[in-house]
Amino acid sequence: MARIVLKFGGTSVGDIERIKNVARRVKREADAGHGVAVVVSAMAGVTNQLVGLVNQISPLHDAREYDAVVATGEQVTVGLLALALQELGVSARSWTGWQIPVVTDNVHGKARIQRIDTAELERRFDDGQVAVVAGFQGVGPDNRITTLGRGGSDTSAVALAAALGAERCDIYTDVDGVYTCDPRIVAKARKLDKITYEEMLEMASLGAKVLQTRSVEMAMNHRVRVQVLSSFADAPGTLVVDEDEIVEKEVVSGIAYSRDEAKITLTKVADRPGVAAAIFGPLADFGVNVDMIVQNVSDDGKSTDLTFTVTRADLDRAIKVLKENRNGLDFKELRPDAGVVKVSVIGVGMRSHAGVALTMFKTLADKGINIQVISTSEIKISVLINEQYLELALRALHTAYGLDAA
Ligand code: ADP
Ligand code: ASP
Ligand code: MG
Repeated sequence: MARIVLKFGGTSVGDIERIKNVARRVKREADAGHGVAVVVSAMAGVTNQLVGLVNQISPLHDAREYDAVVATGEQVTVGLLALALQELGVSARSWTGWQIPVVTDNVHGKARIQRIDTAELERRFDDGQVAVVAGFQGVGPDNRITTLGRGGSDTSAVALAAALGAERCDIYTDVDGVYTCDPRIVAKARKLDKITYEEMLEMASLGAKVLQTRSVEMAMNHRVRVQVLSSFADAPGTLVVDEDEIVEKEVVSGIAYSRDEAKITLTKVADRPGVAAAIFGPLADFGVNVDMIVQNVSDDGKSTDLTFTVTRADLDRAIKVLKENRNGLDFKELRPDAGVVKVSVIGVGMRSHAGVALTMFKTLADKGINIQVISTSEIKISVLINEQYLELALRALHTAYGLDAA
């Protein structure tokens, strides 16, 4: 018996009609004789609402209680979907994270899955029972509920597929696949039939929220066959595959963006050994992740300006840490700027092609868009720009790299 995992996101289970629609799809797979596990998210908007409630009581909350609250959205949808399946005559039961159990580490709010015990699910597959599993959650070493970070149901699904040795892991969402760019911003974006794990990993980590980054990492490590497709249409979606499965390699296969960026510039930082450590050490100690960094050459050899980026959520904390840890850290001014976005072009073909960065820089220059920070890796180039130019930049780059749909 082939085992398959199907995952449905928040919009796909956004109301009762949609849950019934999901149940009909699941029934088709169960009727085909597969062992089926379905992973579901909370109904659209519910997790945001729960996070809002937590923040109203306690902005600097105890992460364990945050998890206890925000994990409840998925408990509702697993129950409702199990009922909808039963109404269709399909044997089904709901499972929360701790019931399976999905064992995670103790990093509440951002936990990582360590292992999933699938023995009981597999026994029930043999009896024809569909498992409806709550995404986004697990149980930590302290026996308390954990959550996997926003968008974490994707990771629950891929992890479950890996643990079950599933034949495929279908991620149903509100778009019919992975596009060359977010189709909600770039109308000419094209659906990709296939994308490599590596490109998908970059796309996700650079902001394309269609899959959570960790889910792609996990799929790549365990070679899980992931397909992204629409829960509202009957059409093939996008397969995430190994590089050798792609014959025609594009130089640039996608463009991603992230609005979750903030920039900090420290002016007149002393230009001597140990300064970078004095700045980034305390930030790391307080859990602030730094992404892009530029340091200017100093005119006088004594001081320089240093610019780096953090997530918007971390901006206030970063400012506080830098102001309170000025020991060994000399700077004149701290200039924060939350009005920036990061735009990245991604493609495995970049490895063997020159001039990709030049096209990006020229295209942005032609539109009068100033580049504030640049960072590159083997298969991506990212730039930081003013947020007001985001849409203009995405559309211009999409055209410049020949990605526009015909
Ligand atoms: P779900 O609730 O099903 O998990 P998400 O909202 O997390 O869905 O992810 C789907 C959304 O990702 C789409 O609605 C789309 O706006 C966005 N998105 C961003 N970049 C891309 C891309 N390159 N291809 C497809 N969708 C993208
Ligand atoms: N419900 C969670 C969230 O909104 C997990 C998910 O949807 O993947 O982040
Ligand atoms: Mg999602």
